[in-house]
Amino acid sequence: MARKFFVGGNWKCNGTIEEVKKIVATLNAGEATASNVEVVVSPPFVFIPLVKELLRPDFQVAAQNCWVKKGGAYTGEISAEMLVNLDIPWVILGHSERRSLLNESNEFVGDKTAYALSKGLKVIACVGETLEQREAGSTMEVVAAQTKAIADKVTNWANVVLAYEPVWAIGTGKVATPAQAQEVHFELRKWLAANVSAEVAETTRLIYGGSVNGANCKELAGQPDVDGFLVGGASLKPEFIDIINCAS
Ligand code: PEP
Repeated sequence: MARKFFVGGNWKCNGTIEEVKKIVATLNAGEATASNVEVVVSPPFVFIPLVKELLRPDFQVAAQNCWVKKGGAYTGEISAEMLVNLDIPWVILGHSERRSLLNESNEFVGDKTAYALSKGLKVIACVGETLEQREAGSTMEVVAAQTKAIADKVTNWANVVLAYEPVWAIGTGKVATPAQAQEVHFELRKWLAANVSAEVAETTRLIYGGSVNGANCKELAGQPDVDGFLVGGASLKPEFIDIINCAS
């Protein structure tokens, strides 16, 4: 089964009502061949209802996080149930900014992924090494441990997209070379085959994130194990449409 190309836009903690309306208007006006590509944009929580109301129907919406279990006395958190109640199909979990700034552990991300899936959400689960870890030669060890923590808790991978996002490439302008991205994606697919199943390895989409833009996306998309992108900064700009179209 062919893996449908996937492009996610992570707006992070950016935007005002006016800016959000402008971004959505640009997306809605863009000529995107969305039938060949699954497109998901992820605004901050507070703008999700507005984006859902205004966004073209062939693009979907994701939250940027959700709580690890059923809602309750967890001040400041948003539960998976709430996202389902708002008809939000996707959630990003384990983003490196949350891992590093909020100390989210591999195990916590695994638990969150399993809980979100159990409530019917689809998950963009992020993994990736720091520059220090890459330079120490432990890239695969790090991403395998992060993926194992997810695999330990997840039994059905049908609604998981795995985003390889090297931390050194996020927001830095230092994009991984196509060969670097392909190497890790290939190894991750091999890891899934050996530790989960051949079918999960074959069908799970492995997307790349880290300084993807309109100029570098085409070559990255040409790699056999790169099934799409998670885009930060460039997802706020008109070039996001070029990224959506780059694989067609
Ligand atoms: C991200 O935040 O997931 C990301 C990849 O950011 P950027 O594209 O800005 O590097």
